[in-house]
Amino acid sequence: MDIKVQKTIQALKANNMEVFYAEKKEDIVGIVKELLNKGDTISCGGSVTLQDCGVDKLMRNGDYNFLDRTKTDNVAALYRECFSADAYITSANAVTQNGALINVDGNANRVGCIAFGPKKVICIVGANKIVKDVKEGFNRVKTVAAPKNAVRLGLDTPCSKLGHCICVDGDITDGCNSQFRICSQYVVSAYQRDKNRIKVIITPESLGY
Ligand code: SF4
Repeated sequence: MDIKVQKTIQALKANNMEVFYAEKKEDIVGIVKELLNKGDTISCGGSVTLQDCGVDKLMRNGDYNFLDRTKTDNVAALYRECFSADAYITSANAVTQNGALINVDGNANRVGCIAFGPKKVICIVGANKIVKDVKEGFNRVKTVAAPKNAVRLGLDTPCSKLGHCICVDGDITDGCNSQFRICSQYVVSAYQRDKNRIKVIITPESLGY
């Protein structure tokens, strides 16, 4: 196993997160299935990673009560319902080698559920998300994750045109005043008091952005 991946796994475990290693991205669906029970109420944050590894399809296969924001007229109510879900499935914007998950949202429905609420959080990450430390993690958000997601979602932000934030070298909270700003809420998940609530599935392959 790659030393960087190995180091990150040990650090996540030391921070009270349960870690599963998927040698190939095709192994991830099987691991997620083992972590869920049929009939579980589940939901997810929007994520290219979940599409890349097939978990997106698994969530919608009828075995689970999937809270789907694309199938409701009341997204705000659905987002609140997610707080009492059995499981919330997401990726991370970055994972530090000392065992912290870094996530940044526009309106906090995803980072809110990672921090508190759902009984378990299943976080799927490719090795491309591993960074040295929090500073590098936020830099990754401003130069990779936010611009690419802004393009994917068709958001009219400066980064969707430039390919990076207008404030790359500033404070992490610096940025644009766009009404579509994608990086407004910053959450770093370090040592967890609720042991193993967060379950990280990590693969040496590249997933999402
Ligand atoms: S602050 Fe604005 S320009 Fe910068 S990454 Fe966030 S959405 Fe993009």
